[in-house]
Amino acid sequence: MSAAQQKSPADILKTFEISDGIFAIGVKERGVTLYNQQVRAHNLVWALVEQHRSGARGLGRVAVIGAGAAGLTTTAALLACDNGTSITLFEKEWDLCPVQQGCDGRWLHPSLYAWPSWGSRAPSASLPILNWSEGRASDVARILLDGFARYCEAYGKKRLRALVGVHHLQVQAATKEIRFIGTNVVVNDQYFTQGESEGRTDRFDTIIFAAGFGWERTNQFNTNSYWRNEQLGQPGLTVDRRRYLVSGSGDGALVDVCRLTIERFRQDTILYELFGDTLEATEEHLRMYLKGRENDGLLPYFANIEDTLLRGPKAALRKRLRKDTAVTLHIAGKNLDEPNDLDNIFGPTSSVLNRILIYLLYRCGAISISRRPLDEAISSAHISTDHVLCRHGCDTESHLKLIFNDYNFVADKFAEMGTTQAQHPERYWKPGYFPTAEDRS
Ligand SMILES: Cc1cc2nc3c(=O)[nH]c(=O)nc-3n(C[C@H](O)[C@H](O)[C@H](O)COP(=O)(O)OP(=O)(O)OC[C@H]3O[C@@H](n4cnc5c(N)ncnc54)[C@H](O)[C@@H]3O)c2cc1C
Repeated sequence: MSAAQQKSPADILKTFEISDGIFAIGVKERGVTLYNQQVRAHNLVWALVEQHRSGARGLGRVAVIGAGAAGLTTTAALLACDNGTSITLFEKEWDLCPVQQGCDGRWLHPSLYAWPSWGSRAPSASLPILNWSEGRASDVARILLDGFARYCEAYGKKRLRALVGVHHLQVQAATKEIRFIGTNVVVNDQYFTQGESEGRTDRFDTIIFAAGFGWERTNQFNTNSYWRNEQLGQPGLTVDRRRYLVSGSGDGALVDVCRLTIERFRQDTILYELFGDTLEATEEHLRMYLKGRENDGLLPYFANIEDTLLRGPKAALRKRLRKDTAVTLHIAGKNLDEPNDLDNIFGPTSSVLNRILIYLLYRCGAISISRRPLDEAISSAHISTDHVLCRHGCDTESHLKLIFNDYNFVADKFAEMGTTQAQHPERYWKPGYFPTAEDRS
């Protein structure tokens, strides 16, 4: 029996609960992806609905805070599973799924960041609610929104209240009250038409926190959010070679380094282009090695396989180095003023795929690596401040403090979630559990 089958709805619910009746999706988990957040949303709804049906815990009036992939999946799944529930969905921005909407330059794949695990190259998320396949982030956002509208049409006409442009949203965790000012929207085909604005305080029985992770920390450099359109992947149209510094050691930083250094880089094709016929054999080798070593630094291992498994990919990559850019990777850790070790980039803060790409770039001499304090790294490489990209993750703590009026009431539980990492993105529901939008039409 797999670990996924052994867990009961009550077990699963505990991993999401931050105080009585308040649940948070993924906020403190590491390695968050859009797909993982959707799987967590399915798990949470499955556990809540099962508890509701068994009489162990009723759903009552439900609030979902945040209309990104996690909030939309949660709302659609709840509408479809329980036809007695009324749901209020709060979104801070002026449209649903605002983070990835219109983002044409970033590629989203459901599970490539789990590579080389089995099935990780499969293009479809194969999810029962709001399914999608790999594509530009903007296309994925459209698919999620179209799917959400279909669920609203099929199940939610009377039971869903959605508000956008929500500001001053304050949760009082002890009483499950939410104070807010926002604008109602109603579903109109696949769009959401503006209704009345209002400000009030409502009490809920179940609150689901799906408001993401907060603003990306950009230091003093005003780096655009990862999901805003930019031109890093495009060759320059001036003769000058451009110098860039990318600071960070997570996937956001490493992807930007790849975009800046590899010619015609595409996240969806790079594996096939570099590994060719040896891809499956390499995956098998990597899987065997990584078993039980998921948290290890991979630098010594990559060095061991450099002349065997990585020989072909390194030669292929060498032919594709961009000629119009010069890139420094600044290895930033928590404390920007203290030098970090090279091992940090190859540790578990990023996907195996991106770590291999960076290793190959490093061994092709395509990037400089800086361990100096950020200011020194910038000035010594003569980089203009508008070519500095800080990818230092999100300031989740400040985000939570802004939303929870009585943050102290939930602070310990959030801290515990960060330590236990218990919201595994495994599927706990049985196939066929969630109704499709078409089941109702
Ligand atoms: C640099 C970087 C690179 C990333 N790269 C990838 C990648 O390649 N692939 C991938 O799958 N994932 C990637 N991610 C993670 C990705 O952003 C998340 O997986 C995805 O957006 C999670 O969806 P979500 O719904 O949980 O959160 P979000 O998409 O953040 O949605 C949260 C929603 O809540 C809303 N909200 C926030 N505060 C409030 C409030 N007070 N009141 C009401 N609403 C509120 C927000 O406006 C937003 O719409 C990356 C993240 C970063 C920072």
